[in-house]
Amino acid sequence: MTMNDTMKDLKAINAKYLMFHAMTDDTDAGDAKFLFSTKDNLTSNDMETCAGSRILEGYRPAFDADCIAKLRKAGGKLVGKCNMDEFGFGTFSTNSGFEIPRNPFDLERACGGSSGGSACAASVIEDHVSLGVSTGGSISCPASFCGVYGLTPTYGRVSRFGLIDYGNSLDKIGVISQKATDLKKYMTVIAGKDERDPTSMVQPEFRTAYRKMKSVAVPKEGIEGLSKEVEATFKKALEQLIAMGVDVDYVDMPSLKYAMPAYYVLATSEASTNLARYVGMRYGHQEGDHSLKFDDYFTSVRSKYFGDEAKRRILLGTFTRMAGFGGRHYAKAREVRQVIIKDYKSILETHDAVLAPTMPFTAPRFDEISKMSALDSYKADYLTVPANIAGIPHMSVPCGYDSNGMPVGMQFVADHWNEDILFSIAEDWEKQFDLRRPEVSI
Ligand code: GLN
Repeated sequence: MTMNDTMKDLKAINAKYLMFHAMTDDTDAGDAKFLFSTKDNLTSNDMETCAGSRILEGYRPAFDADCIAKLRKAGGKLVGKCNMDEFGFGTFSTNSGFEIPRNPFDLERACGGSSGGSACAASVIEDHVSLGVSTGGSISCPASFCGVYGLTPTYGRVSRFGLIDYGNSLDKIGVISQKATDLKKYMTVIAGKDERDPTSMVQPEFRTAYRKMKSVAVPKEGIEGLSKEVEATFKKALEQLIAMGVDVDYVDMPSLKYAMPAYYVLATSEASTNLARYVGMRYGHQEGDHSLKFDDYFTSVRSKYFGDEAKRRILLGTFTRMAGFGGRHYAKAREVRQVIIKDYKSILETHDAVLAPTMPFTAPRFDEISKMSALDSYKADYLTVPANIAGIPHMSVPCGYDSNGMPVGMQFVADHWNEDILFSIAEDWEKQFDLRRPEVSI
């Protein structure tokens, strides 16, 4: 299929899978070298950007996010902004203020979240790369549910300029694709220090040379609570890794169980301050009764346009930051974060990566999700959250399929700035893994 064929089919593809919130009207790729899409929380000057929230409906940014500008400069054509959970708050992309993307392997199932539309686009569209953003697992989770590769780089590797923030100390922009080789190719384009984002770091260059992964550590706590099928598929993948010459050791990492509660304190505290700007003045719908007192006016706009999960997170985050409680919650969560970093570092002194399944189950059906409580869905993140808290690079790699044909992913976690070893293992894996593409019909 040529790029122009893809361009012509885009609207029909989107009508079926609902991956794009906004998309290009062009049906011609022009002189583009590749087509790409991005999560809808990265600003672009040619399309509406809403971060999945109705409060930003109609927002047309005047500038491109740094990563989008870099991909355009490298010859990329931006074809769409992908549906997502509102501001990144979710695990299934069902908390979107707009469309909910459909899993390419079964339209009754979720794509994962919060970069669900991005993983869907990468899975459905041939030769496609999509940018995702991860705060607590939003690249790995949907990559795993949609059967594609997803890399979340070291915190500070990619500029957050042009990103609509969720949790500033956690947000990382990364790449999702059907091909392991694409991850390295596009990550090297978007990485780098940027004066406009003080949290982007002066950093070691990507080592692009091959570096064989010799050993992985599987934390015992990372293989608890799995569905039977994920457990069996992961076991088989471990045997395959051993056959490829990788040593597999089981280790203890008890701090893993504290990551999830610590994450939801850090993430909601930061999110609640970030959402304070959407009040119907500089950002957000400007409507309603302007004669109201200003806080009544703000409340009217926020009540109407924020979704339930955004409101829940504002409440949680405001509570954790309350005078007198900050030390008990936020400061404690930061201490837990340090313990987790220390534990990863000590395991990674003797192993190239830490490995576990990406998600404890495969993509659930929408009717199953509607029965989950908010806490059930938070708990589903226990395998992706630890590496995100630690700010260390990780990659979800497709490793098999369950009896319904739904993809299973495994997640490799490497030390800070060691993305190269993740690229190498993914490329080795890709050579021998029988990747299934979803049957795409329009
Ligand atoms: N599911 C997690 C959350 O709801 C992670 C989402 C993300 O990384 N944006 O916060």
